[in-house]
Amino acid sequence: MAVNYYDPEYEVVRLDERCISCRVCERQCANEVHSFLPETGKMASDETKCVNCQRCVSLCPTHALKIVRSSNQYKDNANWSRKTMNEIYRQADSGGVLLSSMGNPEPYPVYFDRILLNASQVTNPSIDPLREPMETRVFLGAKPESIQRDDTGRIVNNLPPQIDLAMPIMFSAMSYGSISYNAHESLARAAEALGILYNTGEGGLHEDFYRYGPQTIVQVASGRFGVHPDYLNSGAAIEIKMGQGAKPGIGGHLPGRKIVDDVSRTRMIPVGSDAISPAPHHDIYSIEDLRQLVDSLKEATHYTKPVIVKIAAVHQVSAIASGIARSGADIIAIDGFRGGTGAAPTRIRDHVGIPIELALASVDQRLRDEGIRDRVSLVVGGSIRSSADVVKALALGADCVYIATAALLALGCHLCRSCHAGKCNWGIATQVPELVKRLNPEIGYQRLVNLMTAWQHEIKEMMGGMGINSIESLKGNRLMLRGVDLTAKELAILGIRHAGE
Ligand code: SF4
Ligand code: SF4
Repeated sequence: MAVNYYDPEYEVVRLDERCISCRVCERQCANEVHSFLPETGKMASDETKCVNCQRCVSLCPTHALKIVRSSNQYKDNANWSRKTMNEIYRQADSGGVLLSSMGNPEPYPVYFDRILLNASQVTNPSIDPLREPMETRVFLGAKPESIQRDDTGRIVNNLPPQIDLAMPIMFSAMSYGSISYNAHESLARAAEALGILYNTGEGGLHEDFYRYGPQTIVQVASGRFGVHPDYLNSGAAIEIKMGQGAKPGIGGHLPGRKIVDDVSRTRMIPVGSDAISPAPHHDIYSIEDLRQLVDSLKEATHYTKPVIVKIAAVHQVSAIASGIARSGADIIAIDGFRGGTGAAPTRIRDHVGIPIELALASVDQRLRDEGIRDRVSLVVGGSIRSSADVVKALALGADCVYIATAALLALGCHLCRSCHAGKCNWGIATQVPELVKRLNPEIGYQRLVNLMTAWQHEIKEMMGGMGINSIESLKGNRLMLRGVDLTAKELAILGIRHAGE
């Protein structure tokens, strides 16, 4: 037998006095960690297969299980950590690129956690959202630089197409293939109920979901999977994906094991073959090229849909955004380096890109400085974890945020970061029919509606506390923010003052 050089990351702790050998854990684990030993009548565990998805812990009827980090220790070495050594053993085994999923888990600073919000005291009184109107509706798209009136004094309304949202949150791009049919349906139904939008990810769109068109952003990525005129015209907006926060500079990757019949038909990819979209769009090498694609998509949809250009947050992001704002795009989406993914090379995910807070502040400031901020709306994503992150992002200059990981958590995800393996025990990032069935879209959609309703209420409370009664007044209002534990340089980039000032 070949020797495994790396040790299991987790230990399965099973309390014998509680375990009734019901075998629920065995049936629930697609990774085959648990098994029943007839000779002893007891359960056993193969910890080498455990990804710590917590499904068995959640469903064990007697609370007999817990998964803990292995206490096995390599000899102390401040330079060569156990994680680093295990990665080298893995690559020496496989000869391949390390793959992972979900967002960057490394301990880089989270700027949202070092920014605090203001609240009114004595003067400029706070507003009680339970008793007074509070506007969370937003419109995304290019706005005129000045108000124009006709001869009778009426305001001339010749706005380009807009996205109308009941709150400043949308579900970010997740393709059918990377996530299951039931996860997709949960998102689409929740978006419809909430008056917001969800996003097809790298295209296409399953035939059953065309009826959610008014709630759908249809994406055009470099692979152009599933892109055709009906697809483009079915959505409320079109998103050109130039980059993604989890893997800036490289293309998408959908492992072949997730390309099953239905996904193959929807995305126009052969069954079982890895779908690797190219790193660049092969027809875009300049802002002029991007403009041509923006124009083509607008023409193909009769100038009725706003076009979003999505980029990853990288160095010089403000210059890139400035160019995109001049390309005819209506909305720029910026994805920070903590953004999730169904599959990414681990090194890229963990070492490329910049935090969304810094990217957002610098882009908003640059577009203002250049007098073109109204030409585009800004949508940001990349680990928006709570309503407080939403409010801070808006005050830093965003018009709206994208969420994805938080939405998947609402559906049951426990961030085991093994979506690429296609065996999600929660029925989310899988195409295995018996696993997909575990996510009931009726329950999934309701949980998403609950989460967003709760966040909307919290947003209103925070705005009310600041004496602000509309998202429009919060947007870019950096006076409402103060930094803690930040350097002068970081404060300057964020454009905020330190707490106490
Ligand atoms: S689910 Fe719990 S009680 Fe049932 S076999 Fe597994 S550990 Fe034992
Ligand atoms: S979606 Fe599923 S596989 Fe992916 S991180 Fe969440 S629980 Fe794990």
